Amino acid sequence: MKDTDHKKAIRQHLEMDDFFTGGFTAKAESKHTDNSAANVTAELEKIADEVRRCRKCELGSLRTNAVPGEGSPKARILFAGEGPGADEDAQGRPFVGRAGQLLDRIIKAAGLKRADVFICNVLKCRPPDNRDPRPEEIINCLPYLQKQVELINPDIIVALGAHAAKALLNTNESIGQLRGQFHEYYAGLGRPPIKLMATYHPAYLLRNYSHENRQRVWEDMKKVLAELNLPIPQQGKTA
Ligand code: URA
Repeated sequence: MKDTDHKKAIRQHLEMDDFFTGGFTAKAESKHTDNSAANVTAELEKIADEVRRCRKCELGSLRTNAVPGEGSPKARILFAGEGPGADEDAQGRPFVGRAGQLLDRIIKAAGLKRADVFICNVLKCRPPDNRDPRPEEIINCLPYLQKQVELINPDIIVALGAHAAKALLNTNESIGQLRGQFHEYYAGLGRPPIKLMATYHPAYLLRNYSHENRQRVWEDMKKVLAELNLPIPQQGKTA
């Protein structure tokens, strides 16, 4: 599939999904919806159940555990990665392997706790041998993430790596071009866009552990904290 076809297919699928799932009505009535933490938690659990039952693509039959995501229903920051690896597949939890430990350090360096944020992925099931997600897998799985974003309504999404940034922004630009500045993510008609910061994936950082790359991620995180009016720790380091 060519890149342009890929983008077109994703957009069309999302529009159809929105239409058939009654997205227009739900959004029009959103000011009447119950967005208390308890209700958001219950709705997130429904999505997690759907994900665990999902057989839309072959990844559903290859997984040990689906990895819907976890964190605070009131999170101001939602981190979205690419897809579960072996450790995540084994535990059913996002970012618990080596890349996850680095993400934990980044979160801590930013003065936050893992429980303060929401952590999830574009793909909810592990691609075999950690291969790149396929376009049709992203098309099938992205609506789960979109619903999680809609429910949590974070102030900022941090897209970890090229696959998450490209899928959420529907773009083919490289992570080098996308990172370091805010983009707009549209969570639905009639809703203000959510700011999205793209940064390097922790796994990329582990493979390319230079001072420059760590500094770039920290600069991206500082912009996120500043945008949220949160204090920026002096000694912020990702290592
Ligand atoms: N890499 C990801 O993109 N997500 C995870 O959950 C773990 C590693």
